[in-house]
Amino acid sequence: MPSNYRGRLAPSPTGLLHIGHARTFWIAAQRAIESRGTLILRNEDLDPQRSRAEFARAMIEDLRWLGIRWSEGPDVGGPYGAYSQSERRAHYLEAWRRLREGGFLYPCTCSRKDLALAASAPNDADNDDEPVYPGTCRERKDAADLTEPAGVNWRFRVPEGEVVEFADLNLGRQRYVAGSDFGDFLVWRRDDVPAYQLAVVVDDAAMRITEIVRGADLLKSTARQLLLMRALSHSDRAYVNLAYADRGHGGSGYASPDYFHCELVRDATGARLAKRHDALSIRHLRESGLTPEKVLEMAGWP
Ligand SMILES: [Zn+2]
Repeated sequence: MPSNYRGRLAPSPTGLLHIGHARTFWIAAQRAIESRGTLILRNEDLDPQRSRAEFARAMIEDLRWLGIRWSEGPDVGGPYGAYSQSERRAHYLEAWRRLREGGFLYPCTCSRKDLALAASAPNDADNDDEPVYPGTCRERKDAADLTEPAGVNWRFRVPEGEVVEFADLNLGRQRYVAGSDFGDFLVWRRDDVPAYQLAVVVDDAAMRITEIVRGADLLKSTARQLLLMRALSHSDRAYVNLAYADRGHGGSGYASPDYFHCELVRDATGARLAKRHDALSIRHLRESGLTPEKVLEMAGWP
C-alpha cells in the first residue's frame, strides 16, 4: 500500500542529462522509495525553441539506465496527465486568468536592453539568472483590457518587503525578502510561452506533489513559487488547498509541498557542473563503458 508521498522528477529536454542531474534525481528517487510513495516523471518541455523530442527520449533512457523508476509519466501515463508540459497549456492559461483577475499581474513591455541597463549588480552565478526588475511597468492599469496573454510579457507583482521563509528539509530555514532578493518575475512570455515559475506551481498542485526535491540553484525560485501559490489560493481558495486536502492542510490559508534542495555537484575547482559539459553527460559516461554505480559515485553519491 503506497503512502501519500508524491515526488517528482522534472527534467527539461534541452540537452543531455549530466551527472549533476543524476545526483538530484537519484536523491529524489531514494526519498520516494523510503517514503513508500509515488514518483512521477514530468517532461518540462515548455520552451518550443529549446526543447527537443530526442532529448526527451534520451532523458527517459538515461534515467532508466541509472536505475530510477517512476510510476507516472509521459511514457507510462497516470491519473494526473498529461505529463509533458507542452500538452498542459489549458491549465496554465486558467492560472494566468485567475492571477490577472486577482490583480496580481501586469503587462510589461520593457526590452531586454532596458532590463540590462537597469540591472544594478552582477548576478550571483551560483544562484539566479534574473536581475531584480526595476518596476518600470508596475503601475500600468491595462491588465484588464488584455484578455489573452500573448504579445507582452506578464509579471507577478511581488509584495515589496515581505519576508518569505520556508524550512528546507535538507538545507534548513531559508529567508528571502520580496522586492530586494528577487523582483517582479515573469509568469508568461511575450512569445506566448508560460514561464517556468507559473508552470511548476500549477503542475505541482495539479499532480498532487507533496515533496519537491531539486537543486539548490532553485532556492530563490521556491520563494517566488510560494508567493504564486498563495496568490492562486487567494483568488480561489480551493486551488491549492484542494491539492493537499488529504494531508490535513485544508482550510488554513495556503498550503505548500515540502522542499528538499540538494547541494550542487561541483568539479575539483569548485565550479558548478553545468549542462554544457558534454563529457559529463550520463549518455557519454555510459557509452564510455562506466556502470550506473560508477556514474553515481562520480556524482558524489552517497
Ligand atoms: Zn516593463
